[in-house]
Amino acid sequence: MYNHIALLSAEPRVAGTEAEWNAVKYIEAEFSSYGYETEIQPFTFENYYAPKVSVSADGQTLSSSGFTYTPNGNVTANLVHVGLGAPSDFEGKDVTGKIALIQRGDFSFAEKVLNAAEAGASAVIIYNNAPGGINGTLGEPSDDYVPAAAISQADGQRLAAALAGGQTVSATVSITGGQVVEETSHNVIAVKKPTQKNKATDQIIVVGAHHDSVPGAPGANDDASGVSATLELARVMANMPTDTEIRFVTFGAEELGLIGSYEYVDSLSQGEIDRIVGMWQMDMVGSRDAGELVMFTVDGQKNTVTDLSAAAGVRTGTPLTYGQESRSDHVPFHYAGIPAALFIHNPVEPWYHTPEDSLDKISKEKLQETAEIVGAAVYQVARPDTPALERSKVAPKPVDYEKMVGGLQ
Ligand SMILES: [Zn+2]
Repeated sequence: MYNHIALLSAEPRVAGTEAEWNAVKYIEAEFSSYGYETEIQPFTFENYYAPKVSVSADGQTLSSSGFTYTPNGNVTANLVHVGLGAPSDFEGKDVTGKIALIQRGDFSFAEKVLNAAEAGASAVIIYNNAPGGINGTLGEPSDDYVPAAAISQADGQRLAAALAGGQTVSATVSITGGQVVEETSHNVIAVKKPTQKNKATDQIIVVGAHHDSVPGAPGANDDASGVSATLELARVMANMPTDTEIRFVTFGAEELGLIGSYEYVDSLSQGEIDRIVGMWQMDMVGSRDAGELVMFTVDGQKNTVTDLSAAAGVRTGTPLTYGQESRSDHVPFHYAGIPAALFIHNPVEPWYHTPEDSLDKISKEKLQETAEIVGAAVYQVARPDTPALERSKVAPKPVDYEKMVGGLQ
C-alpha cells in the first residue's frame, strides 16, 4: 500500500490531466496483474478555467475577482448604481451599454447579472456587503450573461457615493482567458466473479476509492491511500474462495463533484443496482495526523455496511463509530438505494488539500488498520460459508460530526 502511494503521489492527479491518466493506467495494470478482468470507463465533464480579471474605476485599479462562468470581455463605460440589481432597481435607469454597479445580497449573483444583461448593461460589477473579497460563482454557463467582476464593499460604497453625488464615473472591466473545456476522466473497474460457481449468490459488493486529486496537492492521503487499500484488498482476495461478486472501483473526478461515481452508478442497470448489497468507500485512510477511523453514511443511519464493518472492527481490535457525512463517492450509491459508507479518519489532517498531503505523512499502521477492517467486513459477506448480509446486527456509537476539522473535499 505504501509503495502504491509513493508512486501515485509523485505528482497531483487532477481529473482530465495526463497525470490522472497515468494513475488510471497504473491502477488498471495492477488489477490486471492480480488476474482480474478490468475495464477503464471513460466519461466527459466540463472543466472551468478561471480568467484573469481586472477592474478599474476613475483611473484607479481596484482589487477584484471574477465569478465562475463569467464570460470574457473588455468593457469600458460609465457606471450606473442599481442597488441590489432586482428588476425593479433598473426601472427609470438607463444602463444600456453601461456597467451596472450592484450590491451583493438577497438573491444570487447569476440573477443580478441576468437582470443587468436584460436591462441592456454591457458588464456588471458586484460589490461585497461585508468586508473581504467575493469568491463567487454564477452556477452554470449561460450565453445570456455579460462579463461580471467582484470588488470590495469599501470600493463599492465609495463608487456608489460618488454616483449618488452626481459624479460621472467611468470604469473598465477586463476578463480574459476564462473558458469551459470538455475533458475526459476515467473510472477503473476490476471484477472478481464468485469462485464457488455452484454456491454463488447473485449479490455484488463494491469496494471503492477515488484516484484524482485537487490541483497542487500530491494527494498521498486524498486519496492515493484509499486507492492503495483498494488495490491491496484486490490483490489479497484474488485467489480467495468467494460466493459473491466483488467489484473494486477507483473513481475519477471525485474532487469536481463525485462525477466519476455518479457516472459509474448511472451506468448500472436496475438489476445490477438491486444486486449490490453494500458499497465501501475509502477516502483519506492513511494520515498519521488525522483522528480515528470513522464510518459516515449520507443519512447518518447505520446500515449493513456499517454493521458489518463495526463487527469487523471488533474482531480486528478497532471498534468503530459512525456519523453523517456526504462528499465522497458513497453518495451516488446511497441515492441509488444501496447501503454505502465512507471510511475516513476524523478529524481530517491539517494539510488536507494542500501541497503538504505527501507520502511522509502516511501512517502504514493506519493503512493496515483500515484495510483489515474493510477487508474483514467484505469477506464476511463474500466468503462461501456465511449467511446473507441482512442478518448482520451490530450497533456502533454515533459520532459528533461537528468535531470534524474542515471539509472532506
Ligand atoms: Zn477525497
